[in-house]
Amino acid sequence: MLKLNFRPEQFDWHKPASRRQGYEWQGNRLALPDGAATKKYRVDKARVDKALYLTFAALPETEEAFRGFANKYGPLGEPLEACTLDIWRSQVKLMKRLVALAEALKSGDWKGVCGKLEPKPFWSMSHEKLVERAVAELLSPALPTLRCLEAVPSLDERAGTVGLRLGYGNLMNFMWFQFIHSLVGHAEPRQCEACGDYFTARRGSKTCSATCRVQLSRTRKRAREVYAKGMGVRQIAKELPADIALVKKWIATK
Ligand SMILES: [Zn+2]
Repeated sequence: MLKLNFRPEQFDWHKPASRRQGYEWQGNRLALPDGAATKKYRVDKARVDKALYLTFAALPETEEAFRGFANKYGPLGEPLEACTLDIWRSQVKLMKRLVALAEALKSGDWKGVCGKLEPKPFWSMSHEKLVERAVAELLSPALPTLRCLEAVPSLDERAGTVGLRLGYGNLMNFMWFQFIHSLVGHAEPRQCEACGDYFTARRGSKTCSATCRVQLSRTRKRAREVYAKGMGVRQIAKELPADIALVKKWIATK
């Protein structure tokens, strides 16, 4: 008997192999320095799903922030020449707006829905019409990418499983699918206390990865040490650096 595992949340992509030799902006496109390599990685790990679409939506619209994201998670698509600075900017803007639109719709905030639709609807538009417009808009970036989907099967005879994953073609497509998946999902994404990225954990976890867990425990320890020596919360937050609310939480709990 074989068991079928459908894992649409898994996605294989590639990022710079070395942190020191990552993407740089050359004009309005990203490029790797000569001789730098990329390595494969899988977005989903055993217990944690990265909510990349949210981390992406939260990016400040700066070259530096886009570069940092590309070095951590890879380019939006390929070839690199096609991923211009304008594309990064417009996709981050669109993701930000649609995440806010989804929030407004989920909480029945009609004023918020009106405010996030483009072009702005007439003030007299009925709730039914607003929902129609909102849903069409929420799904629109993902729909054209359906054509890029492909099946990625794998057979593990010893474990008795057939794995079925989807090939999304590129990272931007994958993030749009994560986004529409989030519209119907029940998982509440949270923010990693170490790196600030968003993720959904199947168990209560404060961090998005093993690396971040180690880093968080170090940072927390350091915060408690300097607090015990009399340093103020504000100063600790500035020097670590970390969020003030987090620093308060760390020194309050043992
Ligand atoms: Zn993290």
